[in-house]
Amino acid sequence: MAATQTLEALRSGVDRQLCEIEANLIGWRRDFHQHPELGNRETRTSGIVASHLQRLGLKVQTGIAHTGVIGLLEGGQPGPVIGLRADMDALPIVEQVDVPYRSEVRTTYNGESVGVMHACGHDGHTAVLMAVAEILTQHRDELPGTVKFFFQPAEEGAPDGEEGGAQLMIREGALENPKPAMVMGLHFVSPIPYDKLLYYKGPMLASADIIEITLTGKQGHGARPWMAIDPIVSAAQVVLGLQTIVSRQIDVTREPTVLSITINRGGLRHNIVPETAELGGTLRTYDEGMRRDIHERIKRTVEMIAGSSGVVADVKVKTQYPVTFSDGDLAEKIRPALERAGGIENVSLGKKLTAADDFSFFGHHVPTTYFVVGCAPPGTDPTSGAPNHSPRFYLDERCLLLGARALAGATLDMLHGA
Ligand SMILES: [Zn+2]
Ligand SMILES: [Zn+2]
Repeated sequence: MAATQTLEALRSGVDRQLCEIEANLIGWRRDFHQHPELGNRETRTSGIVASHLQRLGLKVQTGIAHTGVIGLLEGGQPGPVIGLRADMDALPIVEQVDVPYRSEVRTTYNGESVGVMHACGHDGHTAVLMAVAEILTQHRDELPGTVKFFFQPAEEGAPDGEEGGAQLMIREGALENPKPAMVMGLHFVSPIPYDKLLYYKGPMLASADIIEITLTGKQGHGARPWMAIDPIVSAAQVVLGLQTIVSRQIDVTREPTVLSITINRGGLRHNIVPETAELGGTLRTYDEGMRRDIHERIKRTVEMIAGSSGVVADVKVKTQYPVTFSDGDLAEKIRPALERAGGIENVSLGKKLTAADDFSFFGHHVPTTYFVVGCAPPGTDPTSGAPNHSPRFYLDERCLLLGARALAGATLDMLHGA
């Protein structure tokens, strides 16, 4: 009975204090939003995170997987080690949202000049975890167990030729000393309205693989295509050919599967048939057998279509992230905290998504659970609102406090062996 009362008091204390620092939470997020950094380049962001955690008096490790930061909060009572993870990286996108803290940042990405934007809400994830760390630290003596805060770089993938993200953090020992009993993550997702929370049981985010194709023809004059071998027309045929793999060749009733070609590059001048064209894209699925089978089909489709016009194809399919798994028992254990934070009517069991997250690598070592917080202004049409990765992605900042309250509440429950 005493323990229950203590937990109740702790929950309401933490909840109230998070509400009190909402302005800071929003301020941190806006600062990160205005100063976004690409994967493995989050030096400013991780510097702010590290000094925040140091100021709180946590044990802090920096420079993990390049720019990752880990904070350790050791509670005054015995109990489990609970891991919480936030990602810190932004995307090579020119922001089109008209807000005072809009990003004007430009940088170089894979040799190209690009804008940088927090178009996936990771600015919010980082700010939320800073807020949760701050308030839980104020209750250090009462906490039964340890909270390990993972601030992770490069969730969207490291730049070409570099390693990074969750996989590298884990390889560098992030899950040791101490090893968490479980790790929890959250994501802000648009166009789900800000007051909705979704929890997941089982496989919930797809595997992700990177497709890279170079088509080499023979350069010539645009007016005499018969003297050239045109990789542009071949690229157009390949894009359409690849679309038939999912639509015509795969049993789509088995698992959600998506193949998107998102890069189509080639040519310099209107009157030159170029020597090469490049295509790139992503494959998302949930089944290992389907995944390997589709890799073979991609290679065969590209090589045969290109070969039909004498174009030589170089096809690479690189495995990126495995399927993200949200443990069913843990999901049930965090559900009450989500319901307390958002209201029972706003919490539901989510369905499989075709997005991916390298949070999946944590799940290969320890049990994991993951929840989604809607971040679109209420009334947004889910069929037409700007999704994550859009230059118009917009985060309704009310989701920050909601996410922080849900995450802190779920952490307290986990520490108390809910
Ligand atoms: Zn993303
Ligand atoms: Zn993301």
